[in-house]
Order: sequence, then C-alpha cells, then structure tokens
Amino acid sequence: MYDAIIIGGGPAGLSAALNFGRGLKRTLIIDADQPRNGVTEESHGYLTQDGVSPGEFRKSAQRDALKYEDVSLERDRVTNIEKHEDRFIVSTSSAHFTSRQVLLAAGLREKGPDIKNFEQFYGTSVFYCPWCDGYELRNRRLAVMVDEDSIAHMPMLISNWSKDILICSNGKDIISEENKEILTNKGFKYNETAISEMTGSSGLVESLIFEDGTVENIEGMIVKMEWDTKFDFLENLNLKRGKKGELEVDQFGETSIPGLFTAGETKTNFAGQLINAAANGADVAKFMMMKLIQTDF
Ligand SMILES: Cc1cc2nc3c(=O)[nH]c(=O)nc-3n(C[C@H](O)[C@H](O)[C@H](O)COP(=O)(O)OP(=O)(O)OC[C@H]3O[C@@H](n4cnc5c(N)ncnc54)[C@H](O)[C@@H]3O)c2cc1C
Repeated sequence: MYDAIIIGGGPAGLSAALNFGRGLKRTLIIDADQPRNGVTEESHGYLTQDGVSPGEFRKSAQRDALKYEDVSLERDRVTNIEKHEDRFIVSTSSAHFTSRQVLLAAGLREKGPDIKNFEQFYGTSVFYCPWCDGYELRNRRLAVMVDEDSIAHMPMLISNWSKDILICSNGKDIISEENKEILTNKGFKYNETAISEMTGSSGLVESLIFEDGTVENIEGMIVKMEWDTKFDFLENLNLKRGKKGELEVDQFGETSIPGLFTAGETKTNFAGQLINAAANGADVAKFMMMKLIQTDF
C-alpha cells in the first residue's frame, strides 16, 4: 500500500512528490501527461526557469522527484477513486492501487471559445493570462475578449502591454454605454458581434472575422477561457463543492473526505502560474505528511 497517491504530474503534483520522497513516504504519481500548457512553447515568470519549454520543465521536475527511492510514476489516466474505511482505491483503465491518502493535483478542465481555427493559435499568439504572456505580446495590435466579469478590468489591465486594443465580447451585449465611452476615450475599438473565424499562419493570428462580416487585423489576442474541476473520476465520491463549483477544502487543502487533498489549480479552481502550483504542492504535501506522522506516532 502507498502512503500517498498523487493524481497529476504537473508542478503541483511533482513538487508534492519531491517532498513526499524527502519525507520517506511511499508515493505513486499517476499522470496522464496532458497538461493545459502543452499547447505553448515557452513558460514565463518562474525564477531560474524563465522561458523554459513546458516539456523540459516537466522532465526536470520529474528527475528531481523520481530520484527519491520511495517515489514512482505511472503514465496512465485515473478513472475512479473509492474510499474504504482508512484507505483509498485508485483505479486506472488497467490497474488498481491502494493508498492511505490521495492528492488531487489534476489541474483544471479547460474549454475555449467556439471560434473556427481557435486551436491553431491558442498558446502561440492567443493566450488568456497577461502575466504569463503579455510581455511577448507587447506593443502588438491585440484583440481582448471580455465577459460580464472581466469587462470592468481586462481592457485596463491589457493597456499595460499595448495601447492598440480591440475589445470584443463574442456575441454578448455586455459593454455598457459608460464603458463604451471609456473605451472610445482611450482610443480602443470595440465589437460585440460573435466571432466566427480566426485566420493566420504558423501559429500567428492575423485576423478575426465577425459574423456581421467585419474583418479586423490583429497580431495577438487575450481570450476568456472556462475552467472547472468536474473530473469524471471524482463522480462517485460526492465531494462537497462551493457556489462556483469549486471543491470545498480546509486551510490544509483537505476536501470533505478525510485523507483526500487538493493542490495547485485543482485547489484554487482558477488558472494561476507554475510557481504558485509548485509552491502549493509542496505545502500541501507537508500538511498531509504531518497527518500521517501524527497517526503513526
Ligand atoms: C496556454 C498556456 C500558457 C501558460 N503560460 C504560463 C507561463 O508562461 N507561466 C506560468 O507560470 N504558467 C503558465 N501557464 C499556467 C500553468 O500551465 C499552470 O498554472 C500550471 O501548469 C498548473 O499546474 P498544476 O500542477 O496545478 O496542473 P497541470 O500542470 O495542468 O497538471 C495537471 C496534470 O494532471 C493530469 N491529469 C488530469 N486528469 C488526470 C487523470 N484523470 N489521471 C491522471 N492524470 C490526470 C494532466 O494530464 C496534467 O499532466 C500557462 C497555461 C496555459 C494553458
């Protein structure tokens, strides 16, 4: 039996595994190796790793975690988790594993806008996070997609990196007269019509085609993505969730099921950065080990 099974081998899961290894805990990472940032070429903002490719970052994080004799990695997808008294059974399509604790570090499920060719540009010239990729888009002509929540701050935020901005709401009538006046005064254009298609080449978006026939030339875009943690493999657990669908956790990352913890973006229910996920994975692993050590003492 494992002390801990970690579902997800991103920065949160691998950082937790490194700490479990150093805490002499028998640990299994199960990772499907399909991270959200697999679509992009460079990761920015992680001290000592700025500009690293996501794949290289993972390889070196795996090397760090797997050098500890108690840590192992299965390349597989978790399909179910069951709790039986004081142990968990974690299943993949081909095997079952038992452990005393489970850490959910599976990131987020992500959905982009329904625009033709969107996938061709997402991660190369179309992003959602200016803190991650705004620098690379600086001074370009940018489209900024907003919704009800982001209309108030996103145009202002993106104006830090470019003054040549087109605000679009992709078919939602959400830009108030007051906001239109502010945008116009700032020299920004806006279009509330739905976007039907993106064009460009080699990952570089060149234009947006709107349903009203308008064509706007752009050199990059900030979009609104949708995220949640409603993973299929959690369905049987009946975990408590909050109003926004987030998993309810205590200050240590423990869910409503004792022994089942969350870390990284699965915990925050919102997209953050590699450095935050890694830091959180390390913290939660130490809380988890404290519980094991207390029980065994
Ligand atoms: C386009 C893009 C650009 C980004 N750029 C940056 C950047 O420049 N700088 C930065 O700091 N951050 C960036 N990020 C954000 C960064 O990728 C995340 O903050 C970080 O990866 C979150 O770490 P995590 O460990 O929580 O989840 P993830 O890294 O997403 O890892 C989760 C892992 O769990 C696995 N998993 C999911 N379900 C299962 C299952 N059922 N069974 C087994 N495994 C499973 C997934 O395959 C994945 O490997 C970017 C993200 C995107 C999408």
